[in-house]
Amino acid sequence: MRPLLLTLLLLLAAPAYPAIDAMTWELGGLYEAACEYAEVDCTEIPSPLLIVTDFGRRINALGMYPLGTNVILLTAECTGRLADKTKCDGIVVHELVHYLTYLVYPKITSCQSEALAWDAFNAYVIDVKRYDLTRKDWIKDYPQCAQFQKLSSSSGTPSE
Ligand SMILES: [Zn+2]
Repeated sequence: MRPLLLTLLLLLAAPAYPAIDAMTWELGGLYEAACEYAEVDCTEIPSPLLIVTDFGRRINALGMYPLGTNVILLTAECTGRLADKTKCDGIVVHELVHYLTYLVYPKITSCQSEALAWDAFNAYVIDVKRYDLTRKDWIKDYPQCAQFQKLSSSSGTPSE
């Protein structure tokens, strides 16, 4: 009983876990970076709204771009104390590229958009020297894009 009692006392004594402030993620220079990686002139394109939200357990993603909107979503997990902020910034860059490619190449396929978005993610984490975060094998999570990978050369540049 004693270890249990000690655990309970420690739990009671621990400071309350900091509440998630849903809007604290800074877009900062990430938008400019995404424009550069996607080779898009963003001077006439307003940056989208970044919303930090709880995706729940059903969605296995860190970020999302609801197609056709001017909103990108980032999981609230990124605001956690132990979150890898650089990885989350990379995800923001990734979603920003989805936003940009949708605007600039409306006919782009989802696989082409993923290729550009993951290229940008990889370029970002390499720029900030987090080589451990690179995702060269991103296509493994997108079985629907396997055909796309076979068809395309190493470049993910859309043909239109
Ligand atoms: Zn994506």
